[in-house]
Amino acid sequence: MKKHNYSAGPCILPQEVFEKSAKAILNFNDSGLSILEISHRSKDFVAVMDEARDLAIELLGLEGQGYKALFLAGGASLEFLMVPYNLMKENGKAAYLDSGTWASGAIKEAKFFGETVVVASSKEENYNHIPKGYTVPADADYFHCTSNNTIFGTQMKEFPSLDMPIVCDMSSDIFSRVLDFSKFDIIYAGAQKNMGPAGTTLVIVKEEILGKSGRTIPSILDYEKHIKAESMYNTPAVFPVYASLLTLQWLKKLGGVAAVEKLNNEKAELLYTEIDRNPLFKGAAAVEDRSNMNATFLLNDAAHTDTFDTMWKAAGISGLPGHRSVGGYRASMYNALPIESVQVLVDVMKALETKV
Ligand code: PLP
Repeated sequence: MKKHNYSAGPCILPQEVFEKSAKAILNFNDSGLSILEISHRSKDFVAVMDEARDLAIELLGLEGQGYKALFLAGGASLEFLMVPYNLMKENGKAAYLDSGTWASGAIKEAKFFGETVVVASSKEENYNHIPKGYTVPADADYFHCTSNNTIFGTQMKEFPSLDMPIVCDMSSDIFSRVLDFSKFDIIYAGAQKNMGPAGTTLVIVKEEILGKSGRTIPSILDYEKHIKAESMYNTPAVFPVYASLLTLQWLKKLGGVAAVEKLNNEKAELLYTEIDRNPLFKGAAAVEDRSNMNATFLLNDAAHTDTFDTMWKAAGISGLPGHRSVGGYRASMYNALPIESVQVLVDVMKALETKV
């Protein structure tokens, strides 16, 4: 039986991506070769890379606006370091919003490069909300934020308008909702949520902001070098890039980001309505900041834990336990999760109510 997979990432991908990926591993493009054994410089793979980069820009509505898409290695975590290396001037400063564990990871890396101003933090409240009402120092070289906090289940609904580059870690909600993506100068996202297998990171860069830090940047960490080499500065993650292309093609066929946003809203509405209605459960995040990708919730009475856990496992659900820093449960409802899976979880929550 195919499971209802609520994993936070790596996570569920569209079924057709699994099927086409499996075929490509055996016989890529009917070439008689596996995608795992072809050269990254072969005509067929260069075409994959080119289409993946173009499609990422197209799906975000950023065509013709000076953006370049890159597929890099090192995960989103390497971007925590590459962003300050490329953007923070010698003796400059950067501004960060501390909205969760990953944001604080980015802050830690920025501190290696210079003054790092934390404009606001919700750490004291275990990151249960998005900090608001902050001021960004006008002389910062850039502002960094995290659009969706995977662990805590909060999501930024608004972004500041600033006279400086805005950098956003969209690892866990890229391609899930319509935003004015042209507000951002760098967007980065590890593939392993809404895009593909772990192993590649999508970085969207507005080219005009580069080359201004005055720093000498090691080649492998230099966005300009990667742009020039069209994501082939070194051997790219061939298979994760291919599977990401398949997901982007699937999304385009579905109707793009606006179409999937509608489905994501329906899924989130279904689950949060039950969390709020069912007296056995409570949401972990502030209602106004709730994430449509990762819904965090708790049992009001921990005594029901074993019964609930047995029930959802019996219903074919996997990946539901919350992150250790929040506890309880986390239902990650990425683009590929069907609403039928959310209905199964809601039915189990209702069944628990009648049972205890
Ligand atoms: N940023 C966010 C919002 C994440 O959710 C994660 C991982 O879950 C990361 C960064 C780190 O990503 P990676 O493991 O690709 O370095």
